[in-house]
Amino acid sequence: MTTALIIGGGVAGPTSAIALRKAGIKSVVYEAYDRTADGIGANLVLAVNGYRALLELGVDHLSAGFDIPRYRYHLGSGRVLAQVRNGRPLPDGTVARAITRSDLYASLRDEAIDQGIQIEFGKRLVDTEVTADGVIAYFADGTEARGDLLIGADGAHSVVRRVINQGEVPMRFNHMVTTSGYAHGVDVPNEPGTEFMYLGKRSFFCYIPSDDGTIWWYAAPTWPDEPTSDDLAAITPRQWRARLREMFTDDNSAAVEIIDATEEITPPRPIYDLPTVPVWRNERMVIIGDACHAVSPSGGQGVSMSVEDAVELGRCLRDIPDIPTALERYERIRRERVEKVVEFGSSSSRSIAVRGQVRRIARDVFLPIAFNQKAAEKDLENMSWLYDHRIDWDEPVTV
Ligand SMILES: Cc1cc2nc3c(=O)[nH]c(=O)nc-3n(C[C@H](O)[C@H](O)[C@H](O)COP(=O)(O)OP(=O)(O)OC[C@H]3O[C@@H](n4cnc5c(N)ncnc54)[C@H](O)[C@@H]3O)c2cc1C
Repeated sequence: MTTALIIGGGVAGPTSAIALRKAGIKSVVYEAYDRTADGIGANLVLAVNGYRALLELGVDHLSAGFDIPRYRYHLGSGRVLAQVRNGRPLPDGTVARAITRSDLYASLRDEAIDQGIQIEFGKRLVDTEVTADGVIAYFADGTEARGDLLIGADGAHSVVRRVINQGEVPMRFNHMVTTSGYAHGVDVPNEPGTEFMYLGKRSFFCYIPSDDGTIWWYAAPTWPDEPTSDDLAAITPRQWRARLREMFTDDNSAAVEIIDATEEITPPRPIYDLPTVPVWRNERMVIIGDACHAVSPSGGQGVSMSVEDAVELGRCLRDIPDIPTALERYERIRRERVEKVVEFGSSSSRSIAVRGQVRRIARDVFLPIAFNQKAAEKDLENMSWLYDHRIDWDEPVTV
């Protein structure tokens, strides 16, 4: 029986373990951090295409989080541009789901553990070795694990990607940072299930009123030059809060009120993506999820791509007994789609960036003409390739 070593217990790792189990393949997941390390973290939205892929594995609907079927775009002046569906609902009514990162990780890991999958925490991969009949994973604590196949689901700064590509693959800075928080006890315009997005005068802001009255939010300030970690570390929480308040003070939105009602704001974090990774695999190893195609958060597709990867990899390994051939088939199925999605994420980043006030004023004049309700609905139809994508688990994969 094939045994897979899965590196990374985020989204792609546990999901691929569930897919492999369904395909009759044993796996063990190795996660660098302790189980309790997730914290509440950023909030995110699982798009319908990713949700559909997850359900295809036979897991239940997520109990954590809440449905978020639509979003509404505003200018900083408060003018509504359009209200659009967050993708077309699935036939059973399932829509996109807002969920915290930690709840999503916990849901996927718990599902894997309930299915009898072994997850080992505190195991940081440092190196790998392909042998004549398998692969060895070496961990920072001096231990090792052996298997027939190794799946690198170790995120944007993947060690497995570096090994497979024999060096670093540079990430692309999106000229933007992201920051987020959870506001309590604030009364803001609210409509359940709606993301309120503001193309502000100086920055993009989005809030989502949750079921329990907490306001989930994030902002994506434009940042022309790539910051170093020292640049960012030099900004104190108090300075960052003041900068954010100042950024949104001229907007007719609830941003400042929401920021004031937030106890802890995540520090600014640069946004990167990975447009293309030259090598995805060798004879015994493959990368999936952010390790091989990190998507800008502006595209709202990183989780979905990771889940879709996991399902497709499971199908390939189920139907093609020769591992290198199965991995080659997997790459053929996935590469074009994920690279297109990374470009979509990058163009979403550009579309919310504020590059100077002259351009911003022009945007505020022309956008209501170009991006009205009708145009936004047409846009959604044009995005059918993304949101309506269906992977059929039962369909056999042929070489
Ligand atoms: C601020 C922000 C907001 C986002 N919002 C959205 C959104 O709204 N919608 C969306 O779809 N996506 C969003 N994303 C993207 C999404 O979070 C990622 O695409 C997704 O988490 C990728 O899953 P993954 O499993 O590939 O990687 P991760 O979720 O990063 O998981 C990788 C795991 O591997 C572990 N690991 C790393 N190195 C090692 C090692 N050497 N050994 C062992 N384990 C290791 C890590 O600890 C981690 O648990 C957002 C991202 C950010 C940063």
